Amino acid sequence: MSSPTDRIIEPFRIKVVEPINMTTPDEREAYLKDAGFNLFRVPSEGVLIDLLTDSGTGAMSAEQWAGIMRGDESYAGSPSYHRFEAAVRDIFGFQHVIPTHQGRAAERILVATLVKAGDTIPNNTHFDTTRGNIEAAGATALDLPCPESKAFDVPHPFKGNIDLDALRKKLSEKNGSVPFAMMTITNNGGGGQPVSMANIRAASEICREAEIPFYIDACRFAENAFFIRSREEGYADTALLDIARETFSYADGCTMSAKKDGMANIGGFLCTNDSAVARQEEELLVLTEGFPTYGGLAGRDLEAIAIGLYEALDLRYQEYRHSSTSYLGEQISEVGVPIIQPPGGHAIYIDAKAMLPHLPVEEYPGQALVVELYRTGGIRGVEIGSVMFGGRDPKTGENFYSDYELVRLAIPRRTYTKSQIDYVVDCIKDVHRRRSELRGVRIIEQPERLRHFTALFEML
Ligand SMILES: *Cc1c(COP(=O)(O)O)cnc(C)c1O
Repeated sequence: MSSPTDRIIEPFRIKVVEPINMTTPDEREAYLKDAGFNLFRVPSEGVLIDLLTDSGTGAMSAEQWAGIMRGDESYAGSPSYHRFEAAVRDIFGFQHVIPTHQGRAAERILVATLVKAGDTIPNNTHFDTTRGNIEAAGATALDLPCPESKAFDVPHPFKGNIDLDALRKKLSEKNGSVPFAMMTITNNGGGGQPVSMANIRAASEICREAEIPFYIDACRFAENAFFIRSREEGYADTALLDIARETFSYADGCTMSAKKDGMANIGGFLCTNDSAVARQEEELLVLTEGFPTYGGLAGRDLEAIAIGLYEALDLRYQEYRHSSTSYLGEQISEVGVPIIQPPGGHAIYIDAKAMLPHLPVEEYPGQALVVELYRTGGIRGVEIGSVMFGGRDPKTGENFYSDYELVRLAIPRRTYTKSQIDYVVDCIKDVHRRRSELRGVRIIEQPERLRHFTALFEML
């Protein structure tokens, strides 16, 4: 370190504190038993460090709280909507801005407007709610991740990229069944990995040639802009705002969850440049979300998002955000914990299959690791493996399993300090030392769909 001011520190100070319930090992064991060893069923007061998700769990700034007080709750024509619309237009550049209560509502309205049964929507990797909305419409959600994304332990600067050849091939089979293509930035389903500007530009050109709209799932657009600035040639001196503007200049519309890089606790929006599509979407919006100047949100939420979108593009904030995520990844991979390399923007993904080779997939190594992290230190992560993506064939009663067994530790924005992240590192290292003693789990009760939320387990 050349100068003390080169050190990256939290670029904020704490104004409001929320106590953490420092549970004892006995209390955690009781919480686990009551929850059937399913961390989704543990009440949050039983959690010390909650890394379940970065969605809507961050801390808002003093400016955002000031915006909350300024919020105008008029049913129609609220100035809060106009501030929100101006911010979204300024950053994203789209003509029509439709507020929704969160990202999946934007997806539902987009799908209801443009997708019919039998269609296919390509994406680098669909997020699960995007996939759910497309499949509920009787269409196919096609994932086309780049080949580099498949090797978890081999670093690559833009593992979130879409496979351009596969996209070109899909669109050349042109039979009118692809109403639009999508790109998810960063690629959440693929480890929070970034997409390069070159890949976004090329995917956009392929879609223009095929004459289909190109949409961006923009949830972590600011984190992706920071990755482009730090890893892609030609962007080292470009402001994150300008990188974001260039990103969206290649797209015809976007869906957004403001619970991510909107830095808010709730909210989302849907954008398009197509006035006819926007009119249809606003009709649906009125039916299920609300009047077009508030969507599913209160005026105060619109204010918080309008301010948060710019805060996410602050370079000092992104430097801190990325350094805290990569710090966690580096500290644990140094002692041999296998993670998706390099660390993503919002989360670290531990490869539980590689870490616990003595546990067969039938014993759910990801769930076993999630349980042990909680038992050891009250840390809550989430299994992304066979509990989430496996299941039981309703016809044969046979179990099927996911190709991978990951544990995601997602970092809420501006929420935990470095010493708290050090505590997480210590707990993971401790579990890693005892990894050969970890026992698997068995499912004793499960619903037919989305079983990871409610299934009950038993330790083997
Ligand atoms: C969270 C998320 C969504 C859905 O947004 P919600 O606000 O949770 O409904 C869609 N896409 C991606 C990539 C996400 O991370």
